[in-house]
Amino acid sequence: MAINLYTAISYLKGVGPNRADLLRSELGIHTFADLLNLYPNRYLDRTRFCKINQLSQNSSEVQIIGKITAISSVKHKRGSRLVATFSDETGTMELVWFRGAKWIRDSLKLHTAYVIFGKTNHFRGQFTMPHPEMELQEVFNKSLRKAMQPIYPSTEKLIAKGISNRLISKIVQHLFETCEGAFTETLSVPILQAQGLVSKSEALLNIHFPRSQELLTAAQQRLKFEELFFIQLQLIRKKMVRKYKVKGFVFEKVGGYFNDFYQHKLPFSLTNAQKKVLKEIRKDVASKAQMNRLLQGDVGSGKTVVALLTMLIALDNGFQAALMAPTEILATQHYNSIVSLLEGMEVSVKLLTGSTKSKDRKILHTELSSGTLQILIGTHALIEDKVTFKNLGIAIIDEQHRFGVAQRAKMWQKNSLPPHILVMTATPIPRTLAMSLYGDLDISLIDELPPGRKAIKTAHRFDSQRLSVFKFLKEEIAKGRQVYIVYPLINESEAMDYKDLMDGFESVSRDFPKPDYQVSIVHGQMKADAKAFEMDRFLKGETQIMVATTVIEVGVNIPNASVMVIESAERFGLSQLHQLRGRVGRGANQSYCILMTSFKLSADAKVRLDTMVRTTDGFDIAEVDLRLRGPGNLMGTQQSGVLNLRIADLVKDAQLLSTARSIALELLAMDPNLELPENRPIKTAYTLLNKPAAVWSNIS
Ligand code: ADP
Ligand code: MG
Repeated sequence: MAINLYTAISYLKGVGPNRADLLRSELGIHTFADLLNLYPNRYLDRTRFCKINQLSQNSSEVQIIGKITAISSVKHKRGSRLVATFSDETGTMELVWFRGAKWIRDSLKLHTAYVIFGKTNHFRGQFTMPHPEMELQEVFNKSLRKAMQPIYPSTEKLIAKGISNRLISKIVQHLFETCEGAFTETLSVPILQAQGLVSKSEALLNIHFPRSQELLTAAQQRLKFEELFFIQLQLIRKKMVRKYKVKGFVFEKVGGYFNDFYQHKLPFSLTNAQKKVLKEIRKDVASKAQMNRLLQGDVGSGKTVVALLTMLIALDNGFQAALMAPTEILATQHYNSIVSLLEGMEVSVKLLTGSTKSKDRKILHTELSSGTLQILIGTHALIEDKVTFKNLGIAIIDEQHRFGVAQRAKMWQKNSLPPHILVMTATPIPRTLAMSLYGDLDISLIDELPPGRKAIKTAHRFDSQRLSVFKFLKEEIAKGRQVYIVYPLINESEAMDYKDLMDGFESVSRDFPKPDYQVSIVHGQMKADAKAFEMDRFLKGETQIMVATTVIEVGVNIPNASVMVIESAERFGLSQLHQLRGRVGRGANQSYCILMTSFKLSADAKVRLDTMVRTTDGFDIAEVDLRLRGPGNLMGTQQSGVLNLRIADLVKDAQLLSTARSIALELLAMDPNLELPENRPIKTAYTLLNKPAAVWSNIS
């Protein structure tokens, strides 16, 4: 049969059906190609040789060339060991075997050059190497494995069944021999040249059997680039197809609603960043394609007003608009601020949440389907089946990390055409991650805060300093400010966290006694109306202290609150700390964030706290978070397959990712369907990537 890369692995010399089964179940290796793509985790450097007189007591693995001059068996109580005297021109050492002595003794050749490799021990002035890996120098010189020895991913089961690293390395070598080391190129000549990349065959050879550190680096560079490049190619193609195929409503004009609001109601002038983003949105909604845009802006950067202006454009074109928020508190707050911004304008706005009375709900449903209701703000309740719009033109989703992709899609199903979608998030996503996760969305960025904000001062205090912290709070309250004290409630149902919160509330109430002080409390186990009541008292300034859980994390806007105390701050993640801190610093006053912790801190917790004290830049913080936790744990990444990278690393190879993305963009701009002859290798590889089923069906 003809061998190609999609040939089943059992046909490879040295594999056979049993080993093939194991490779399949343990490492997911089905075909020649899969084995070729099993890149080593690390390499043992076999390029350097050591002389016996250079050995030191703490050297790790060493490689030596020499000859065996004598062999003897040493008997002792529990059996015998085999000892070989091994010499090079500089000295003598001993090789020792405790097992397999007889078999080894028969195979050893005296006075013949060997390459030995292993760890040495130092005992009574003598160096010994137990169970060395050894090969005749003649054989070693012919072997592909001679330079840097690859260490492959493995599992306990594979090792137990005798599929050692050495064996895998050997069958990979068979693969290279079978294919004569020639593999189909997947990149175009211009890209290879411009990026200074080695060919596919060269890269594969040196990733498995690097002949030097330099060649290994070149191979890694090439394969990382290729991996990132094809991911970007897929994402960008997906976006192009969507723009081309998914038709959207056309918002031709900017009319009375927008202009009236902009000229007469808007209480401030927009920042340049807000203007820029608005332009990007207007361009999208005026094109014939559906908008799918992610709006990133740090907490307090003014996303709400951008959302409102966008909704008014929809209204100007005869469409309805919806704004969806993750919590009832936030939806209510959006509703209140939008109603007050629109005061005096003839726009109908309503709020729909889980606690909307069924009587009001009925009216709302009717108005929505007749079109008299223009803007609907709410929670998940918005995407219930009963809610039907007459003509929903745009759906805006705030704080996107709380909504899954499925929920986003659900909003689409309510129309003849999908509404435009604007997803707003205050979670700064590092650029590299955004490119991989949202490479198929358009991204807008508000990278500027409204003028006049003072940077929040952040401090880290230990629980033992609580008295001085409380003294500080009293001073701030005396100036008329308000204070948040937040407790971690990682899991709302966890009794212990809940007890911490209630203990905290009691002690705060003791230290800040009535009638001088009023303390509110809000947590997830309270009824919605009780929560709203407490929030309202705090908002009106009737209470000075809000003891809360992370319920208040998202979006709440109370400009007079100027101090955020975070209890057990070591238990929060960086992005959560950043979100919480963003609740203050919204007014004109100097604001503070105090991170309270115990003395016991993990190394990571220290980095998190130091980062918070050092910077208020959300992107800076997100980068640290990415480094600490790795991309897999950041929001939204779990659903995304793009992070199953074989060789590239989103953190370490960020620069290469940017390059790969711009090359992919350039390529598709010039040759969107990859039809140029020079791009044929890319097209072939791309087609295979997108048709895994077809590839599998080649296997008998
Ligand atoms: P976020 O982006 O976190 O949702 P908001 O939209 O809640 O931020 O805005 C935070 C505060 O800043 C609000 O009080 C809002 O009225 C105010 N704001 C927004 N844009 C501007 C601006 N251009 N100039 C001054 N204040 C602004
Ligand atoms: Mg907001």
